[in-house]
Amino acid sequence: MKVFKFGGASVKDADAVKNVGSILKKYQNEKLLVVISAMGKTTNGLERMLGAWFDGKGELATNELAEIKNFHNSIIGDLIGGDLQNNYHEVDNLFIELECMIETRPVNTDFDFLYDQIVGYGELISTKIISIYLQTIGLNNRWLDARNFINTTEDYRQARINWGATEEIIVNRLQPLVNRQLVITQGFIGRTNRNNTTTLGREGSDYSASIFAYCLNAESVTIWKDVAGVMNADPKRMENTQIMREISFNKAIELAYYGATILHPKTIQPLLRKSIPLYVKSFLNPDAEGSVVKAMDAAKEESIACYIFKDDQILINLSSKDFSFIVESHLSSIFAILAAAKVQINVMQNSAISFSFCANYDERKFANLISQLTELFNIEVIKNLTLITLHNYKEKELPAILTNKEIMIEQHSKNVVQYVYR
Ligand code: ASP
Ligand code: MG
Repeated sequence: MKVFKFGGASVKDADAVKNVGSILKKYQNEKLLVVISAMGKTTNGLERMLGAWFDGKGELATNELAEIKNFHNSIIGDLIGGDLQNNYHEVDNLFIELECMIETRPVNTDFDFLYDQIVGYGELISTKIISIYLQTIGLNNRWLDARNFINTTEDYRQARINWGATEEIIVNRLQPLVNRQLVITQGFIGRTNRNNTTTLGREGSDYSASIFAYCLNAESVTIWKDVAGVMNADPKRMENTQIMREISFNKAIELAYYGATILHPKTIQPLLRKSIPLYVKSFLNPDAEGSVVKAMDAAKEESIACYIFKDDQILINLSSKDFSFIVESHLSSIFAILAAAKVQINVMQNSAISFSFCANYDERKFANLISQLTELFNIEVIKNLTLITLHNYKEKELPAILTNKEIMIEQHSKNVVQYVYR
């Protein structure tokens, strides 16, 4: 049994979905569970719709939703013909649910909770459409709601897996279905014991694939991407990038930790525990080799330098108001505030009288956070920065990488150096 995952770019229009169909045809004789994301940039659109609705901008929310609906309607038209309202009631019903929801102001004021009740619709819609399409090209399949199987905690937008319950239900209920038929399901979403939808964090569909693979004891996971494999840097940002053919689980975890977007940080762990290899292959060139992340001897691993960029970073420098040293009690209050706001720190540094950290910027989170910190500390805030992490880097390459960059902070450790720059 294999698990495949197709992300947003692989189903961004009708031709892309047709291509997914042709890839799946090649694997018709395999037992396969297929995890699919929302189409194209739908998740971003749903986020915008939610934000507008939450902020009381009803008309804007309605327009955002209409745009999302048009986008899907035209894909359906190009893919199978017909339209939502007349021919695809199940898909249309999902839109009606969203339309009804945003008609009135939200009663609940917990943004993260509302986020999870809404944003996962992108996955429900995409998988419904794709399942219907696959049927029309002769690929019999079973659409399943991933929320029935992925049991999570109540940590909205960052739900954690209740492994015991998830494994039990997957083994008992899902496994027999996958043995019988091609299964199409969603990434990104789960459900709590109180029956609320949760999401696993942005780009969480890879993690979904890995959870299913772990619980099904799959022989492998394949993530189908628009790149030829795992590259040592983003080719849009650097020249002479190379594909890393074989990567150990440990290296993959490290790269993901530092923000290599091709590997979602949580994805590797479950696979590592069961030594299930993870293939990264190009959906544009499905027969090409791609990359594999697998259990391997560290000594055999090629030491290729990797460059990981993260944009949209915020740097916050805190110093004590009375020029006293930054001591444990300060640090513990800083960390408590950051933890409560669910801020993930990418780099941090402290000196006698200051503490600095760099994190992914999120307007909603930081407005509140900054005002809390301002009460306790002198604060300096710098936005729109980039963090570059160099892994196994070569000293002689540094000057070229750092030219024309205003470095805000830097940090060196054994194989890794990080720069936050403007
Ligand atoms: N659709 C979700 C996102 O864009 C999940 C995923 O694609 O992995 O974040
Ligand atoms: Mg996506």
